[in-house]
Amino acid sequence: MKRGGGRVGLAVSAEKTAEAGRLEAGEGVWDSLVVGAGQAGLAASRFLLHKGIRHTVLDAEPGPGGAWRNRWDSLSMADVHGVADLPGLPAPKASAEPANRALPAYFGEYERRFGLPVERPVTVRRVEDEDGLLRVTSLDGEGRESVRLTRTLVNATGTWRGPFVPAVPGAGEFRGRQFHTVSYPGPEALRGKRVAVVGGGASAVQFLGELAEGSELLWITRRPPQWRSGPVDGLAVVSRIEAHVVRGLPPESIVSDTGIGLRPAEEAARRSGVFERRLPMFERILPEGLRWADGREERVDAILWATGFRPVLGHLAPLGLRTPEGGIELRREPGLVQGATTSVRDPRISLVGYGPSASTIGAGRAGRRAAVSVERFLSGRGASSAPSREA
Ligand SMILES: Cc1cc2nc3c(=O)[nH]c(=O)nc-3n(C[C@H](O)[C@H](O)[C@H](O)COP(=O)(O)OP(=O)(O)OC[C@H]3O[C@@H](n4cnc5c(N)ncnc54)[C@H](O)[C@@H]3O)c2cc1C
Repeated sequence: MKRGGGRVGLAVSAEKTAEAGRLEAGEGVWDSLVVGAGQAGLAASRFLLHKGIRHTVLDAEPGPGGAWRNRWDSLSMADVHGVADLPGLPAPKASAEPANRALPAYFGEYERRFGLPVERPVTVRRVEDEDGLLRVTSLDGEGRESVRLTRTLVNATGTWRGPFVPAVPGAGEFRGRQFHTVSYPGPEALRGKRVAVVGGGASAVQFLGELAEGSELLWITRRPPQWRSGPVDGLAVVSRIEAHVVRGLPPESIVSDTGIGLRPAEEAARRSGVFERRLPMFERILPEGLRWADGREERVDAILWATGFRPVLGHLAPLGLRTPEGGIELRREPGLVQGATTSVRDPRISLVGYGPSASTIGAGRAGRRAAVSVERFLSGRGASSAPSREA
């Protein structure tokens, strides 16, 4: 049977193996632990179950949905750029329903239907080596610590918990309000305000579209925005990012690399001229506004940082996976799109939803690939059964 190919085959196998995933929870050594139950973690768990690999999924959220639970209320299923199906269950289509309701419901249905062994809220704090096994320390919702041992680990922690804001002098003195994408309060809270939206990606453009009717806007980007001029060549984008991570360089964001297109929802913003009036990055934040290198000053009431995210990998630090360049070198899998998931320094660790697989479509493919990598390691066919990093 073609593994993971057909929905029927997977469903039958999941029934047989769901129980295996739950067996001996908390006892002995797990064959694998998945950290994070977003798109990438659920896909990985699904394929691990399919292979009968005993594992559990630890997720920091109080309920299903991964990062989608926390997206702002005005982001509808019509606004998202397209959410790929989890393996074996079609994703909700474009609609007016908020993504932070539709996708958690979909993920919850997926977990139930396939009997995925998700434990939550469990936040992994540290992953350390212990005599060739991985020692995983976590906190539950009441702050109680627990420790699990596992042979392999699939990291699927996404980026939402790693908001990035550039360091700009004066930020602490600003008297207005500052938000990041993760805390975007919606257009009503910013109505009548003069708002600086910082960032050149899709989120910034969506915010400008939403705020154009009720707020006075400044758009600020570090580099000229990459307007999309034709269809996105997804393979080229992913291949470029993959080429980075297999060299151990920090990954760039897929979403930012696909370029920005304007949708009907951004029409009011386009008419207001905010896109043409774009400003370069300011050099200082003042108590009441912003100052540029050429002396220009603008008063603003709020700064909205749509400046992206960094992968959430701090809990893996004790394993010393990072290269001097700050990335995690992944093993190249020739001929496989989004196939690079296994750490070169420590083949017990797979990273999914990272680098080339940091999109909903990539997350599914990487989940499948990670399960293959785990199986390979457990059967002794990994590159090495011990990590190759220096002590
Ligand atoms: C604003 C925005 C819009 C986007 N829109 C699209 C889109 O339209 N289409 C698209 O394909 N992609 C989109 N993406 C990218 C996409 O959301 C992700 O790449 C994709 O959902 C993969 O999810 P994930 O499973 O890697 O991570 P997440 O959905 O972030 O899930 C990670 C999970 O890990 C948990 N976690 C984190 N740290 C720990 C820890 N230490 N211990 C335990 N659990 C932990 C989190 O709580 C979360 O449940 C968007 C991203 C952003 C930021």
